[in-house]
Amino acid sequence: MSRLFVRGDLTPYVPGEQPAPGQQWIKLNTNENPFPPSPAAKACAAAHLRELNLYSSVDCLELRTRLAEVLGVGAGNLVMTNGSDEILNFAFMAFCDSSRPAVFPDITYGFYSVFADLNRIPWTTLPLREDFTVNPEDYCGIGKNIFIANPNAPTGIALSRAELERIIASNPDHLVLVDEAYCDFGGESCIPLIGKYDNLLVTGTFSKSRSLAGGRLGFGVACEELIRDLENIRYSTNPYNVNSLTIAIGLGVLEDEETTRERIRTVISTREKVKDALEKRGFHVLPSSANFLFAEHPQISGEAYFRRLKERGILIRHFTAPRIANFNRITVGTEAQMEIFLSETDRILKGEG
Ligand SMILES: *Cc1c(COP(=O)(O)O)cnc(C)c1O
Repeated sequence: MSRLFVRGDLTPYVPGEQPAPGQQWIKLNTNENPFPPSPAAKACAAAHLRELNLYSSVDCLELRTRLAEVLGVGAGNLVMTNGSDEILNFAFMAFCDSSRPAVFPDITYGFYSVFADLNRIPWTTLPLREDFTVNPEDYCGIGKNIFIANPNAPTGIALSRAELERIIASNPDHLVLVDEAYCDFGGESCIPLIGKYDNLLVTGTFSKSRSLAGGRLGFGVACEELIRDLENIRYSTNPYNVNSLTIAIGLGVLEDEETTRERIRTVISTREKVKDALEKRGFHVLPSSANFLFAEHPQISGEAYFRRLKERGILIRHFTAPRIANFNRITVGTEAQMEIFLSETDRILKGEG
């Protein structure tokens, strides 16, 4: 740390490892989609290159309009961001301060506490139940701004829309942010509730279900008033937050919802097969509504399993927080990748690794 740095209090978010391109890893550690973006995106990207001399669209109107149709909301209910991490940060900036603290589960997306600290916002956590589910009652009438990932990460467990609605309805004067990064893989979206509750912000991303993690495209869905507040923050931060190549590619991806839906079905079916296969091998696997599985084995520590798979060229995600130190989060890859993952798992369990 330099003698000039004034934020020694920060503990930055630690992203999953991104090996250098060309290295032959089976990468199941950051919940990327194993399939490339829709071919429709490629033509849009190529056609757009000539226009890269111009700044990107500040209002993202064409993209918002198209995405609004897909989601069944109005273009005025959407704000587009540089990945959904950016909208999470905007939400902390817009709606939290020292008298409006944040609350979220003890086991959830690691970025919530980082953004809270970055913006000097007090935060507390509420423990998940023993079975790693969120208890909705804990959040009803809590009088704080609530951040909930649904499905939750890294557990993969989802709440129903009705359970979230109870939380939203019982905190009318506080923000409830529902982070739906993984919702397309089996969660029940809260987007249909935005017309009913003016304290609800749903966030989404093209990173997972739409295969665009490297493109950095996220969005927020809310009543128009909340969107205007978030636009205020966006224009005060970086009005060109979404680059024009990504806008073009995002439009291409949305032209081809068929491919997106088919790949989601494939990931879900692979997930269920791998869950069964892991359970047959003695793993305890949490029920997942996402594109990953969260699992532990009684005979091998989470850390050792992670390390041995890594020695064999397979990356999964291990966390060190005490409650989940024995677990690993395994992204659902292609069938072929998961077959190799399972056969290497067999060898590790037999003590060959
Ligand atoms: C991946 C993820 C995000 C955001 O990813 P972006 O690539 O920034 O859109 C947000 N929340 C959760 C829980 C995630 O796992």
